[in-house]
Amino acid sequence: MSSITGPLAGSETEIALERAAAHESLFSERASHIKQSAVRDVFELSLDPSLVSLAGGNPYLQSLPLQKLGAMASELIATQGMTALQYGSGQGTEELRAQICEVMAEEGITGVDPDNIVITTGSQAAQDVACKVFCNPGDTVLCEDPTYVGALNTFEAYQVHAEPVGTDEHGLIPSALRQRIGQLREAGARIKFLYTIPNFNNPSGITLAAERRAEIAEICIEENILILEDNPYGMLRYSGEPIRPLRADYPENVIYMGSFSKILAPGLRIGWAVVPTHLFRRFYLAAEAVTLCPATFNQMLISKYLDGHDWRGQIQTYRELYAGRCAAMLEALDEHMPEGVSYTRPEGGFFIWVTLPEGIDTYALLSQGIEAGVVFIPGAAFSPNDAPSHRLRLAFSAVPEEKIREGVKRLAPVLAAAIAG
Ligand code: PMP
Repeated sequence: MSSITGPLAGSETEIALERAAAHESLFSERASHIKQSAVRDVFELSLDPSLVSLAGGNPYLQSLPLQKLGAMASELIATQGMTALQYGSGQGTEELRAQICEVMAEEGITGVDPDNIVITTGSQAAQDVACKVFCNPGDTVLCEDPTYVGALNTFEAYQVHAEPVGTDEHGLIPSALRQRIGQLREAGARIKFLYTIPNFNNPSGITLAAERRAEIAEICIEENILILEDNPYGMLRYSGEPIRPLRADYPENVIYMGSFSKILAPGLRIGWAVVPTHLFRRFYLAAEAVTLCPATFNQMLISKYLDGHDWRGQIQTYRELYAGRCAAMLEALDEHMPEGVSYTRPEGGFFIWVTLPEGIDTYALLSQGIEAGVVFIPGAAFSPNDAPSHRLRLAFSAVPEEKIREGVKRLAPVLAAAIAG
């Protein structure tokens, strides 16, 4: 906007203020529940080169075949430009939906009908659609404690109560789930779904044990609660045995959400939902109402990539890279962390969850961390209502190994001082 000088300046400002005050009353009730993500705030700091940022969970795109992707994009415009730049199906292209079935088969989800898939603008958009379709203001959804901040923000925007359920090193605890459902039902809650990240949870890195998956699915079926299975990291396993997704065994009760963000590139903003037939129509219509259709060009580029590149090899490259970074972070934590600090040992994904003695609020340590030259995400971001937390999230995905070691080394005295009181 051009700056205003001279006699008009004052009156323009007054008009602007008056208008702002009048427009304030036009906001929806919902708008007051839409928050700025705490992760985004800290993310800004990650751009300062003097700091080591262990905050953002960005994928390391330098390992992508960029020349090849560029050539594919050019060819797409040259040979199929009229289709690629046009509106397309609200459900997503048939070709990509068929290829997504192959991608999911790698994790044991077989026999999916591509007609049960809706392609979305990242899996974030699928979470939004699920809330729109299933939740009225005041409804309840269950989630892991801790859980993904982006999902919490979506729940809040829809005025949905997110109820965290206890977890341990094997993930969500079935008895805690059963108990919480009982308590909530007694209090009159309308519970719609369980939102779960069974593989390499963001932020905790924890994976839901195989034997618990069946028990949790059975509880949800018994209680008429849907499961939203969010699995963006499932293919990034570095150690241990793969575990079957819930969708593989409970197709009628699970809405499964996948994404190309971590196995290819998040900037393409392509994810998907697999929706049981009896729920499909409304889910699809709600998705279509928001975007008309997912980005045609990006879908076609991904199809070309899946068709013309060793995408399994690329995932293996990512796996090896992140496995090295995860190991470097664990080694550095083993070496530097003071007494009283514990942390998870993830078998995949991007994150390690660090626990300090109770009573320490890690949000209050953020500025000391920054002074020491390291950034992390305080645990409060991963609980509904930003409840104070003695935990914090470290991400190893975006930072080279030597910087990870330096970052952990810088963090150690900050935590030691907090523990010493
Ligand atoms: N779910 C989880 C658990 C995530 O960590 C993320 C991204 N950080 C998303 C969903 C959103 O991913 P997308 O880029 O597919 O929208």
